[in-house]
Amino acid sequence: MMASSIGVAVQAAREGNWTPLVEAAADAPGKNWAEKAQCSGRMADTFFPTAEHPWSDPDQVRHAQGIALNAPLKLCATCPLAVAARCLVESLRSDDEYGIRAGLLASERSELRRSWKQRLDSTAISAALRGVTTLLSAHERQEVVARFAADPMIGADRVARGLGVPSKYLWQLAREHKQRYAPATSPAPTSPASKAA
Ligand code: SF4
Repeated sequence: MMASSIGVAVQAAREGNWTPLVEAAADAPGKNWAEKAQCSGRMADTFFPTAEHPWSDPDQVRHAQGIALNAPLKLCATCPLAVAARCLVESLRSDDEYGIRAGLLASERSELRRSWKQRLDSTAISAALRGVTTLLSAHERQEVVARFAADPMIGADRVARGLGVPSKYLWQLAREHKQRYAPATSPAPTSPASKAA
């Protein structure tokens, strides 16, 4: 079910249900997702409160920073849901530790960052294997590559589309995966193109 606000999506993610956040983020697709961001080109410094760290106590930070947080939090609160969700997901995907994202302090994102790293959502993995471009954690991307490496008949073009990479690069990832994890005697997968060459 679509989240009604970024707060609802974040709360669901904290409870282990990433679907509302990831689905909301999918509504801000592509590389230009930040074009409609409220913070675009504005007050970048205020998004990095002084002496705030991923390990800070968020309550203490909010108390110490006081009204200095009003401006960035207000911008986040008025950011379109899809943009705020994508902003948060991208910060998690890139393990971006510092600064305010989607109305959350760095210290308020620490737990989410940890659980995103562990995320292994079978629905997201299946979607990527079917060629649906989706926002995956590093763990999930590895799983998609592992399944393709085990069964290239899944279809390189489809899986590459799901991962958002060129097919050639997917074959490279699959070969590297095989070399890393397969028994020494097992041959690495070979693309049709390299067979023909
Ligand atoms: S949620 Fe906040 S930090 Fe993220 S793009 Fe919007 S205004 Fe910028």
